[in-house]
Amino acid sequence: MGALPKRKISKQRKRNRRSHHAIDVPTLVKCPDCNSMKLPHQVCQECGTYKGIQVLQVE
Ligand SMILES: [Zn+2]
Repeated sequence: MGALPKRKISKQRKRNRRSHHAIDVPTLVKCPDCNSMKLPHQVCQECGTYKGIQVLQVE
């Protein structure tokens, strides 16, 4: 026989479980080189630098 749950999950229990599912606002830090907002620990998309060194060639 299939492994089936014995009880239906109640609306309350389902909603309570999903109360953790929302993603929050992404954290942004200011690029030290161009002062634009960027994701932390990532290359800045505006000026292409990371930790003060040029990583990407930006047009
Ligand atoms: Zn930048």
